[in-house]
Amino acid sequence: MTRGKLYVISGPSGAGKGTICRKVLEEDSNIRFSVSMTTRKPREGEEDAVDYFFVSREEFERLLAEGGLLEHNLYVNNYYGTPVKQVVQWLGEGHDVILEIDYNGAFQVRETYPEAVLVFILPPSVEELRSRIMGRGSETEEAMNRRLAEAMNELAQADKYDYRIVNENVDAAVKEVQRIMKIERSKEA
Ligand code: 5GP
Repeated sequence: MTRGKLYVISGPSGAGKGTICRKVLEEDSNIRFSVSMTTRKPREGEEDAVDYFFVSREEFERLLAEGGLLEHNLYVNNYYGTPVKQVVQWLGEGHDVILEIDYNGAFQVRETYPEAVLVFILPPSVEELRSRIMGRGSETEEAMNRRLAEAMNELAQADKYDYRIVNENVDAAVKEVQRIMKIERSKEA
């Protein structure tokens, strides 16, 4: 059986990568989504083990020390990381796996899996990004400003990715991800 392919999808918070990933997953049952672990508190509507594994700092640090994370990062005072076990298992079973992580994590993954495909989602404009981040309204102004600053740092990394997609329209962006996956699969045939 052919091993699955590993895809990393990044982009600034507010660029719409979550929505795009969800739709890509809905349309292809062979693809798996890696649920990350975080020490951030759940936002309204977020579910444990679906959006993230929400854990304490102690639990996170324990798994990290045991070598249980494929990559990890500290972002706006919280840890985020990819539990490695599930990803390895899915790839071995032939499933393609999507990691929705930031650029720090993406470049760590590239070190471990040089064959991973890195895709960056760009917002249509910086103004649009600002209003999406501010419009979320689930955080303090300080946290939102830091997210905005992080989003700018993130944007500066786009040219290091294998592919870039401008999210003007969600359906078109989803099609673009699917086109990229097709190209990557055909490389192996
Ligand atoms: P949020 O708090 O908005 O859900 O996520 C904040 C940032 O952390 C986003 O850029 C998101 O892509 C990134 N992120 C989520 N999970 C992971 C992970 O497992 N590893 C890394 N490195 N970043 C992650």
